[in-house]
Amino acid sequence: MPPNRRHRVPEVFAEDDRQGANSQVYCKGCGQSLEGQPRHVQSRTPVAIMMCASCREKHGHELIPASGAVTFCYRCGGEDEIFLSKGMSPVTYHVCPRCVPERAARYRTGDFETPPPPPPAE
Ligand SMILES: [Zn+2]
Ligand SMILES: [Zn+2]
Repeated sequence: MPPNRRHRVPEVFAEDDRQGANSQVYCKGCGQSLEGQPRHVQSRTPVAIMMCASCREKHGHELIPASGAVTFCYRCGGEDEIFLSKGMSPVTYHVCPRCVPERAARYRTGDFETPPPPPPAE
């Protein structure tokens, strides 16, 4: 695994131990396996496609389903759980409870704050 040089807190994904699960990606719109889409793209190459052809046509977008639509996890194909934050400008979050169970659990409690990164070790 190459080091992650991006200056953002890396998402910690739960292990998916199903056969071949770590080499596949799935359509955000329907959860079907996306043929021919590599799981790990070159770091300079943004992910270009996250939905299958029929979903791209249906939603009129290359990456994400239309807002308000049910989405599926790009990593595991499971249905995302949808959370709506409170406040003046609510934000909709689509979170896979299998891949990011801690975040899903936190959102369920209504806590949408991003926890501060752990302090550097002394
Ligand atoms: Zn699809
Ligand atoms: Zn998932």
